[in-house]
Amino acid sequence: MTTNIRHAASTELLPELTRLGEHDAIPYYGNLIGGKPRPAVDEAVMASTNPARPTQILGYVPASGAADIEAAVAAAHAAFPGWRDTPAPQRGQILARIAERLHAHRDGLGRLVSREMGKVYDEARGYDVRGAAALAEYMSGEGRRFTGVTSPSETPGRMGFTLREPIGVVGLITPWNLPVLTPGQKIIGAIMCGNTVVLKPAEDTPLTALLLAEIFQEAGVPDGVVNVVTGRGGEAGQALVAHPGVDMISFTGSTAAGRTIGGVAGSLLKRVSLELGGKNAIVVLDDADVQLAVDGAVWGGYASNGQRCTASSRIVVDRRVAAEFTDSFVARVRALRVGDPLIEGVQVGPLVNQAALDKVDSYTRIGLSQGAELLTGGRPVPDAAGGYYYQPTVLGNVAPTDRVAQEEIFGPTVSITVVDDEDEALQVANGTEYGLSMAVYTRDASRGLAWVHRMEAGMVYLNAPTIGAEVQFPFGGIKNTGNGHRETGPSVIEQFTEVKSVYLDYSGQLQRTGFTLD
Ligand code: NAD
Repeated sequence: MTTNIRHAASTELLPELTRLGEHDAIPYYGNLIGGKPRPAVDEAVMASTNPARPTQILGYVPASGAADIEAAVAAAHAAFPGWRDTPAPQRGQILARIAERLHAHRDGLGRLVSREMGKVYDEARGYDVRGAAALAEYMSGEGRRFTGVTSPSETPGRMGFTLREPIGVVGLITPWNLPVLTPGQKIIGAIMCGNTVVLKPAEDTPLTALLLAEIFQEAGVPDGVVNVVTGRGGEAGQALVAHPGVDMISFTGSTAAGRTIGGVAGSLLKRVSLELGGKNAIVVLDDADVQLAVDGAVWGGYASNGQRCTASSRIVVDRRVAAEFTDSFVARVRALRVGDPLIEGVQVGPLVNQAALDKVDSYTRIGLSQGAELLTGGRPVPDAAGGYYYQPTVLGNVAPTDRVAQEEIFGPTVSITVVDDEDEALQVANGTEYGLSMAVYTRDASRGLAWVHRMEAGMVYLNAPTIGAEVQFPFGGIKNTGNGHRETGPSVIEQFTEVKSVYLDYSGQLQRTGFTLD
């Protein structure tokens, strides 16, 4: 276990800009407000720990409250006019530099992600950090597009078109599971459109967020355009949502928190974008390439330890191929290597915290109590360092209405439901409150295309698992997964701008629109 560790504490890339000093001999960081580090107004702190060795505190950060949000919102307002008036192509150039800096820092940032939330290093570096860099590349080109609509006027001597304008100060609230990509994609989209932001990152990944913001500053983002306030959802998060100076909230997280946030923001008539939970299915039809489906289910179910909103947490398999699929899948899951995410060859790291470990284990018991069969896993992995490891778990014989088939577990647990035919498969696959991502495996392209239309999800895959979204396409879901917004791809512009319709009359006379066509 000591060989091939791809990390040495001395080479850790950690935030420097926001480092305030030490607290109990451990680095102590401030919020990033107006380009400067600031402790919490009441000096409260909270610790960021390593889920592979929970006694290791990586750093202390502010446990911020309403007064800190107030300061950050003021800084974002002060920076807004200058940033709004910076020509979009120039903002795009800064995004190109952000992409370049993110690529340059991939290793260090990736290591910090693994340390702080437990994701395997290759995924941290390869998907999380690289994804944010890819979106910055994509959005940098938007600086020279940022297009509106032109249409002919019905009135002579008149023309019309639309402009895209920023919304103002945007509050961003993010979870810990993609601690670079999710805050990164929100910041990149929002600032490309000329907004300034206040980010409240997840409690479990504040250092990654501070380092990310530092990299943005290094790329030339002016002071106050990106502000970061660390703290708890019920304190700093709620204060951000309720602040009258915040014009929009962009939230990614659980459906429960999304409902609360959507309610508060809605009552204040703020624009609010909600990207919430998922319960994504892989459907394996009777003519599927079963080994390909097994490959997809292992990757989709256990990448990032199943802690992805798009994780393939349900398998819906036709009875005719169920035995072949299940035998092979369970054998592959048993062989997954669990351990420290920075050790080469490890495929599954620790869960993010003790609460997550308890939740995953409780769902195993709930599944068994409702009649599921434990095919492998089902227990925490004992660890001398106290890491939050859980055995990759497969539950068989799961009924579509069982709680493990309906509720988001957010861990290394995949349920298998066997169905008799294609109609039942569709009904089961679509039969949850969520609609984020879904996949179907079939060798028949026509059948697959029919499924593309019938799957109730914002993202669908043919012969590939439910994870693997690319930044040039819209990301998001339907049903209780969100409120209709999409992140990444061209949708970013819609999410983070207001549309202004412009009419130019060069006729030199009053024209009564509406009468000209009579
Ligand atoms: P969470 O909802 O507990 O927390 C997310 C963020 O919201 C954190 O920063 C938290 O501090 C903050 N928060 C919580 N309650 C709040 C409140 N009342 N007011 C303001 N802020 C509040 O979610 P989590 O456990 O950190 O993340 C996992 C969840 O995120 C899963 O449900 C997962 O599916 C979802 N997720 C969705 C997507 C997507 O794009 N659809 C992507 C990643 C994760």
